[in-house]
Amino acid sequence: LTAKIINGTAMSKEIKEEVKAEVEELKAAGKRPPHLSVILVGANPASQTYVKNKFKAADYTGITSELINLPGDTSQDSLLAEIDRLNKDSSVDGLLVQLPVPDHIVEKKIMNSVAPHKDVDGFHTLNVGCFCVDEKSFIPATPAGVMEMLRRSGIETFGKNAVVCGRSKNVGMPIAMLLHADGIYDTKAGDATTTICHRYTPPEQLAVFTKNADIIVVATGIPGLIKGSMIKKGCTVIDVGINRVKDEKTGKMKLVGDCDFEIITRNNIDIENPYHRILRAFVMAFFNRFNLYDDLYNHEQKLLRACRQIEVLNKC
Ligand code: ADP
Repeated sequence: LTAKIINGTAMSKEIKEEVKAEVEELKAAGKRPPHLSVILVGANPASQTYVKNKFKAADYTGITSELINLPGDTSQDSLLAEIDRLNKDSSVDGLLVQLPVPDHIVEKKIMNSVAPHKDVDGFHTLNVGCFCVDEKSFIPATPAGVMEMLRRSGIETFGKNAVVCGRSKNVGMPIAMLLHADGIYDTKAGDATTTICHRYTPPEQLAVFTKNADIIVVATGIPGLIKGSMIKKGCTVIDVGINRVKDEKTGKMKLVGDCDFEIITRNNIDIENPYHRILRAFVMAFFNRFNLYDDLYNHEQKLLRACRQIEVLNKC
């Protein structure tokens, strides 16, 4: 049995097709498509990439969008005025201010000035509050994506043990909220027994929690934090980390997550192989030696030994 890889790219494509169909339905009913406005202050290259990807997805699905790119030295008051204008514009359905904002602007103040019903990022305190008491709200993209991945992959969360590594307010915390909360309420949460680990969780404790987990979601920004030896067989690992590291082989920069991906997926194969090896050896031993020893006691001893060996492997 090899590790099953959840294909996020394929899932994203599937979701985009569904959204596209919904937009077409709206248009067929004679209504305008949804409109998204994005404010970008300055020219942070990572932000520009994120924004570009959002527009590409909007275009593909038929959602109309516009970029309001303000200079990096825009004052907080001018930014607030721009947000106010878009809040009042009834042709704008969704409004997001790409983070991070420059240092002279107070991020929380900006987040709380976006009209809660247009706050597609789900960062307004009112949305965060509603979300935390399981009421309908805009849920931040990454946590919503993680839950959707679990749902679409048919991974059961109800009554399972989940571990979230990371507790940031936009990623780790909302993921943990969605995994642990009650599935009967508006957030349709996971009902999992959820443990949150963070930078002050001692490494040996982290391994104790992860080894007991059915589901692990990692969002720490630490490449290689989760190793194959820290997960149990059959565990679902969702790696939210994005880290730029140097490739040892090519010397080029590459993107990796927070998990030792290759080792985890390879380990899952290796864990399986010894079972098969031992079972095959055992079956052979059974037939070969049965003739030699023709003795029920010996046969049972061998059977017990082999079972114990398999048990030990099971615990590895
Ligand atoms: P993001 O926005 O992607 O969540 P942050 O840098 O804001 O990223 O948060 C990183 C999170 O990772 C923090 O909550 C921090 O406590 C957590 N973290 C850092 N080191 C460890 C560690 N060794 N084990 C578990 N969590 C960790």
